Amino acid sequence: MLLICSRRFEEHVTPPGHPERLERAHVFNSVAQRWVQAGGRTAAARPATREELSRVHDPGYIDGIEGIAGRAVKIDEDTYTSPESVEIADLAAGGVVQAAEHALNSREPAFALVRPPGHHAERDRAMGFCLYNNVAVAAAAARARGVARVAIVDIDVHHGNGSQWMFYDDPSVLYVSSHQFPFYPGTGAADELGTGDGRGFTVNVPLEAGANDADYVLAYSQLVVPVLDQFAPELTIVSAGYDAHQMDPLASMRMSSDGYGVIVAAVASVAVSHGALALATEGGYDLNALEACLEASFAAIQGRVAAAYPDPATPAPRGERAIAAVRAAQAEFWRL
Ligand SMILES: [Zn+2]
Repeated sequence: MLLICSRRFEEHVTPPGHPERLERAHVFNSVAQRWVQAGGRTAAARPATREELSRVHDPGYIDGIEGIAGRAVKIDEDTYTSPESVEIADLAAGGVVQAAEHALNSREPAFALVRPPGHHAERDRAMGFCLYNNVAVAAAAARARGVARVAIVDIDVHHGNGSQWMFYDDPSVLYVSSHQFPFYPGTGAADELGTGDGRGFTVNVPLEAGANDADYVLAYSQLVVPVLDQFAPELTIVSAGYDAHQMDPLASMRMSSDGYGVIVAAVASVAVSHGALALATEGGYDLNALEACLEASFAAIQGRVAAAYPDPATPAPRGERAIAAVRAAQAEFWRL
């Protein structure tokens, strides 16, 4: 696995008390340093090009973001910039494109440690700490170079509204998300399943607050992995948000870092059986949990985490209810 990183990610500064804070970049730096000390390789993130951004964002929106370069701006109640933020957002999007390109070129997985996150950013709107939709930019870059089927698997505790809407009518980009529901940003119900030719290529797995490792393992083994296996993506990009961890200050899930390792292992295994695998950070706001989850994910991608199967003796009522809802909504599209 290759890590894509940059010390510059600490230059995107948010107001005091903001959860998406520069110290998250210090976590990225320390895990990258350990990675190198253990013999791993890294590459420096490069900025996204205007052409890459404009595949998923409106030109007028990109102009607007470029127009606030050099300034500290409050875009909405959650989303802020500092003078360097526009350059850093370019690096975040470019870093994920790089990860996808590396994975496609070499068949070696790549993980981009980037901020600000991206999955809430819509075609013409910044929101939820996100300026550019990093993962969507990378998925569109892969499509532009001829990759037929791209899967985005969003393990962040929030629904990735931006990623969903950008590809909602597009059968070549599958969007699969597990998330706390109902919760911010309000989207992600099981019956949001795409439109037109894209019907069935959005798969939402809404989980009630309090879902734990057993619920997630059940939902991933019964829903996410089978959908991915049937779609057979040439490239899978994981929106790797770690805010479903029990220590996270924003959400109400009860996942452990080991649980994250197990679901990343499950996704990585089916992804590499069909094609290339890239990952990119999204949320995750408890710094210790973020670090532990990244380490667990690295181990999982390298095959050092055993696939866990649902234990019939462990109750997983939230997982069961999610499975019932998704099976009902997606019955005509997937064998689940
Ligand atoms: Zn999140």
